[in-house]
Amino acid sequence: MADGARTFDIIIIGAGPAGLAAALYAGRNRENAVLVEAKAPGGQLLNTELVEDYPGIKSILGVDLAAAMVDQALSFGTEMVPADVTRIRAGTDGMKTVETTDGTVRAPAVIITAGGNPRKLGIPGEAEFAGRGVSYCAICDGAFFRDMPLAVIGGGDAAVEEGVFLTRYASRVTIIHRRDQFRAQGILIEEAKGNAKVDFIMDTVVESIRGNEKVKSLSLRNVKTGEASTLNVSGAFIFVGFVPNTGLVDLHIDHDKAGYYITDPLTMMTSVPGIFAAGDVRSQLTRQISTAVGDATTATIAAATWVKEWHRNRQDTAVELADDMVSGGV
Ligand code: NAP
Repeated sequence: MADGARTFDIIIIGAGPAGLAAALYAGRNRENAVLVEAKAPGGQLLNTELVEDYPGIKSILGVDLAAAMVDQALSFGTEMVPADVTRIRAGTDGMKTVETTDGTVRAPAVIITAGGNPRKLGIPGEAEFAGRGVSYCAICDGAFFRDMPLAVIGGGDAAVEEGVFLTRYASRVTIIHRRDQFRAQGILIEEAKGNAKVDFIMDTVVESIRGNEKVKSLSLRNVKTGEASTLNVSGAFIFVGFVPNTGLVDLHIDHDKAGYYITDPLTMMTSVPGIFAAGDVRSQLTRQISTAVGDATTATIAAATWVKEWHRNRQDTAVELADDMVSGGV
């Protein structure tokens, strides 16, 4: 790809479950499609220990589901280019140009399945102790904390699920949540409450992360009473949501307050014709593997239809142009 732009019909950006589902449907539909991903394909599945809520599969390791999705997706002919996308532009003719670290690709349709990155708390000590006790990935870093006390910050599915996962290494896991109600699914909360190694501190925020070489403690404040306290821990795992990866596009795409792309519910098309979004970059109620795969399926089928229409319009325009030239005696 380094030796000049290549043209496709559909460019898929990001190889998490949504991107892999898009690659699968594009391949089976015999679309001229390319999947661009710089990292190992699988997205957040690679940071997930066990998947137990993907219909049809009772329980599977995240890495195994990722490997199966990659194998299936690429077996139908969609090419995968290992590169980082640096910029996406749209021409006046509707053609999109995607610049990558390995050259430029063009297509009339782009499906953005670029996922997101962990949201930061933005408190003192967080950046300073990143990799020295502060982590955003239990499966990556949990084993470094064998028999040590840990804190998990957050109240969503990720915090509660990863908190339970960390008990296989930690001596104790304290889940700290800023409200008195969890956002997480009931089954995950039940599991956490039933785990003797898990305890909870509710209505509480972490004000700072302290330590020397490594994390030693967290400074806490109860948001209802205002009371300050200290929790001694060796690590802080932060799961306070995601920030969507939406900074690649040079044009305005309508988004919600949190920055997620707003898409047409029937087609997954964004406010820019020919740019579709699926998975964690899309504004929606929940972010499950199943919803990412569903969104991407819709987006791919809609993108294929959109591309056909785009080609037809171009042909019509070319014919009209030729007719004009003939009738104008050119
Ligand atoms: P999430 O659902 O957005 O939850 C984020 C949690 O962090 C919320 O409890 C929120 O508190 C808290 N929070 C946000 N900002 C904070 C701050 N500055 N200080 C303290 N707490 C803060 O994010 P998630 O748990 O990462 O999940 C993301 C998506 O992935 C969700 O749709 C989730 O369902 C999905 N997911 C699913 C599974 C599964 O099905 N097994 C596993 C992981 C993730 P409030 O509640 O007060 O807002």
